[in-house]
Amino acid sequence: MSIDSLKNRSNKPSDQQPLVSVVCPFFNENDGIDSFFSAVVPILDALPATYELICIDDGSTDSTLQALTNAASNNAAVKVIELSRNFGKESAITAGIDHSAGDAVVIIDADLQDPPHLITEMYEQWACGFEVVLAKRSDRSVDSLPKRLSANLFYKLLNHLGDTSIPENVGDCRLMDRQVVDALKQLPENRRFMKGLMSWVGFRTTTISYTRSERSAGKSKFSGWRLWNFALEGITAFSTVPLRIWTYLGLFFSIVAFSYACFIIFHTLVMGIEVPGYASLLTVVLFLGGIQLIGLGILGEYVGRIYSESKRRPVYFVRRIVEPGKTTNDS
Ligand code: UDP
Ligand code: MG
Repeated sequence: MSIDSLKNRSNKPSDQQPLVSVVCPFFNENDGIDSFFSAVVPILDALPATYELICIDDGSTDSTLQALTNAASNNAAVKVIELSRNFGKESAITAGIDHSAGDAVVIIDADLQDPPHLITEMYEQWACGFEVVLAKRSDRSVDSLPKRLSANLFYKLLNHLGDTSIPENVGDCRLMDRQVVDALKQLPENRRFMKGLMSWVGFRTTTISYTRSERSAGKSKFSGWRLWNFALEGITAFSTVPLRIWTYLGLFFSIVAFSYACFIIFHTLVMGIEVPGYASLLTVVLFLGGIQLIGLGILGEYVGRIYSESKRRPVYFVRRIVEPGKTTNDS
């Protein structure tokens, strides 16, 4: 089917083209910006739709912002949102979504690891009636083995523990209909695990597959420690099972301790008092102490979340919005 013949899904009159917003977070991506625009713009120009390309500068410390501003002065469809500091990818995407006006919103990384031709494929699926189009990595051999294995384990664990099914091997790259975006904007939490939130809202979803490319330039911003924190964020945001485990563990150890106490009483009555047993006693005390500390740590994770959510701080601050022909300060 030719892409031009697909039906107009926006609420606009049929002679008006739909608007597609492409949201892309940038953090120190200066080296890859030229290749990004030369790959993405021709694809957007070829869509049977008008488009806006929303680039979020997430507090870059290199010349990313300057390069984005230059791009905006050359292309009227480019809008640059400069955040007041580095808030992290999740907040940057939230900022982009909040500032988008499109009938469909596409999220894509700046490093071309999600190939831009996906935009056309996702648009076709949207025009066929799907409200969410996910881009699934069928081959991610460009990612290191530890990264693939840990991601696999994380999604298995998350889907096992949580009530929301979060598709495996699907990153943030996806297309969402305006209805989905409006639903997403109603979710009030300020600690935003976007993949989880975007799955939680539901809607009619389809998936397209792609092979993950190498980064166009620069290095990944997600180190092992950052990924670990991201995983904790995802699990604590979407599951309370880690809290409930302690009830069962506590019950188990209480039963074991009670049975052992019965055994000791019986043994003392029959055999008299014996002194040996310090080593085993110390082992049990240390083991239970460790278990209790882990339990406290997990409680702390959730209390920490409640604390930071209760402050109701905004997810990000905008320092400046650069749109061709107008520059605004906003926060
Ligand atoms: N990113 C961001 N803020 C950050 C870290 C990353 O906006 O604090 C952006 C980054 O510029 C890129 C996307 O998020 O467009 C994905 O980052 P990266 O390629 O480093 O992650 P990976 O693909 O290795 O998971
Ligand atoms: Mg990347």
